[in-house]
Amino acid sequence: MATPSPKHIEAPDSRSVRIVWRDGHESLYGNQYLRLSCPCAACVNEWTGERTIRESDVPMEIRPVSWHLVGNYALSVGFSDGHDTGIYSFEFLRDHCPCPSCHPKTR
Ligand SMILES: [Zn+2]
Ligand SMILES: [Zn+2]
Repeated sequence: MATPSPKHIEAPDSRSVRIVWRDGHESLYGNQYLRLSCPCAACVNEWTGERTIRESDVPMEIRPVSWHLVGNYALSVGFSDGHDTGIYSFEFLRDHCPCPSCHPKTR
């Protein structure tokens, strides 16, 4: 499959971000989920891959205040907690799509 690319990115409400992909798939990411999935070096240990940010570190009312495309492969997101070093590649975002058809419950 080709690298996924978004057709449209929007914040449908104050709690989530929606990405509509070119293949028609829609992903809805909760703001907190998105913040917790941040792949930057401050949130994930580069060597172990261990996540150093915890759910309790992220305020419930967290929201993205800005985003912009990085080249044609990623999305850079600035959050209301001042964290703006997260660069989410489209592939990463698509992999982390929380919808039931991408992530069927295994338990
Ligand atoms: Zn981060
Ligand atoms: Zn999905």
